[in-house]
Amino acid sequence: MRAVVYRGVNDLRLETVPAPAIGPGELLVKIATCGICGTDLKKISTGSHSAPRIFGHEMAGTIVQVGKGIANFDLGQRVMVFHHIPCGKCYYCRKQTPAQCAVYKKVGATAGFEPSGGGFSEYIRVMDWIVRTGGVVPIPDGVPFEQAAFMEPVNTCLKAVKQLNLAPDDTVLVIGQGPIGILLAALAHRTGTRVLTSDLYPERHAIAAKFGLRNPIHAESEDLLARVRKETEGRGADAVILAVSANALIQTAMAATRPGGRVMLFAQTQHSEATFDPGAVCMDEKALLGSYSASAAIQPEVAELVFGGYRKGFDLTQLISHRFPLEEAVEAVEVASHPRGGSMKIMIEPVLGAGAEVGAGPRANAGATGEAE
Ligand SMILES: [Zn+2]
Ligand SMILES: [Zn+2]
Repeated sequence: MRAVVYRGVNDLRLETVPAPAIGPGELLVKIATCGICGTDLKKISTGSHSAPRIFGHEMAGTIVQVGKGIANFDLGQRVMVFHHIPCGKCYYCRKQTPAQCAVYKKVGATAGFEPSGGGFSEYIRVMDWIVRTGGVVPIPDGVPFEQAAFMEPVNTCLKAVKQLNLAPDDTVLVIGQGPIGILLAALAHRTGTRVLTSDLYPERHAIAAKFGLRNPIHAESEDLLARVRKETEGRGADAVILAVSANALIQTAMAATRPGGRVMLFAQTQHSEATFDPGAVCMDEKALLGSYSASAAIQPEVAELVFGGYRKGFDLTQLISHRFPLEEAVEAVEVASHPRGGSMKIMIEPVLGAGAEVGAGPRANAGATGEAE
């Protein structure tokens, strides 16, 4: 089969590799589409993981082989696959920090080599514990693969938004309106809280508006802090979500938060050092929080949002700006690594157009218009 193999820092190659063989309790899934995640870009550009590997984890496809002993999945079924599932029993799971669970850190989907997701290929092997514990999610008819591929990012974003305990009279600022920033803002908006969104690119604000986000701050021409204070009687936002990886913006996020407010770091996925004012945390009681990866505990709610929501116009495919075939994966990663106004979520598809397929029956949100609720 064809696969995009990571051979070293910034070295991706389209190669022909053996399709993975599955064992008892495992599934073979033919990939329809796979999103490029910021963490994939980090791994490819920093060499944080050994080579060779096949990355890609925001994936959806069709079951083409069912291992012995599996009764609840069928050939031809359309599914979305999680590559991590926590054990649910260890100390970290009991303390509701499942992303720190040792089992969670294991990768349960692979297209070959050291398991790393495998979505940038034609077929993936889904390991038994992922199949057993809810890591394979059937996609309802009428919902395109590429909507389902947003399941994992929506889960990670909802987990972060929940951690902020937003109240209806809160004002939250989301800094950065890439696809993840828009998702975070849209999910905050659904809680009924007031959402301000900041980005340099007008094109991104236009996409955000499709998700009901109507308080854009044009960071290229406006003074972000002055605008946030103006919108909050001079206090600052009750919560700020930083959806940009630049550490310099941590200071900005803290300055935009009111005394006693909270700052959520969502894009700081590398260990490093950053400057911040410790007095803002101590005396001004601003809480610095982080959230990483998905939570199985909120998965039913996420499935309802992604599948049920699609029928009501919560159309996440509006976040997709580019679709590339496997052959153009290097270019896809190049576009994803250099965000511009016109680049949002980038998908890689083994067969171009497969991500838009909806299974049997009509497209579920056909005719749905207007903003998502
Ligand atoms: Zn991801
Ligand atoms: Zn655990």
